[in-house]
Amino acid sequence: MAEILDGKAVSQKIKENLKKEVLELNKNGIFPKLAVIMVGNDPSSKIYVRNKSIACMEVGIEYEEHLLNDNTTMDELLELIKKLNHDDTVSGILLQSPIPKGLDINEAFKTIDPKKDVDGFNPCNVGKLCLGQDSLISCTPYGIIKLLEEYGIEIEGKDAVVVGRSNIVGKPMMQCLLNKNATVTICHSKTIKLERATKKADILVVAVGKPKFITKDMVKEGAIVIDVGINRGEDGKICGDVDFDGVSEVASYITPVPGGVGPMTVAMLMNNIVKASKMGQKVL
Ligand code: NDP
Repeated sequence: MAEILDGKAVSQKIKENLKKEVLELNKNGIFPKLAVIMVGNDPSSKIYVRNKSIACMEVGIEYEEHLLNDNTTMDELLELIKKLNHDDTVSGILLQSPIPKGLDINEAFKTIDPKKDVDGFNPCNVGKLCLGQDSLISCTPYGIIKLLEEYGIEIEGKDAVVVGRSNIVGKPMMQCLLNKNATVTICHSKTIKLERATKKADILVVAVGKPKFITKDMVKEGAIVIDVGINRGEDGKICGDVDFDGVSEVASYITPVPGGVGPMTVAMLMNNIVKASKMGQKVL
């Protein structure tokens, strides 16, 4: 049976260390603050934003929320982002996705000051990640790397397979694994014979958004399986993209959903806010 990669426990440890760091920063007059922008009323977004606000409270990070209605124009959204870019009390800006159709999320990400881009979605930070330069790294892939490292799992030289190529998870995940010297394959909806690729993975990262999509027969014996998916199953319960019960029988390590990648993502957001606050004060 696979060992559980306990993202909840590891994220707690990361947050406790950050809390100490924030207290030290406070002594030096630095008060990290997150500004969240949410456009519209997406129910899942409300839950994610609430989790992020709770984490800020735990770590001692100041928090403010900007709730915009569905009819917000692109000009209004960009104006708010620019205002927050110039607000010296704001260390990090997070635009919660999705935003209503008709608004251009890429334009919005591009407008966030790269030094305040705690989600790591600004093209400048994406480019730096590709070049292997220090940057604010997208929280989900960064959290996955930290989780593997925490369990002493070697990435270098491994065959890593990422299923999903979204800009927010799959592509930065591929880059993070490559930067750690894995040999990376990335799969998507046009991949032919997906199981041929997944079966050769030493490390399999799944970010598809389909409940229990990866089954036991698609996984190599002893593989390390990372489940990014957050879905509501037929029974109404939250489940991942991996059939946890079946895949646990063949994998050596596996992340649960909930309690795996999700809490790590939030912890790395906290990490990025603290880092951004230091960059803003030229401590970094
Ligand atoms: P997207 O919908 O943006 O991307 C899904 C990806 O899966 C696409 O690249 C798509 O391919 C690929 N895909 C779809 N069907 C198949 C298939 N049959 N075979 C192979 N690949 C396929 O999703 P996200 O990346 O935003 O999110 C993925 C999941 O992760 C969701 O459940 C989301 O809720 C969750 N998530 C969890 C986070 C966390 O913190 N735990 C953070 C962010 C997301 P193509 O590009 O060809 O369309």
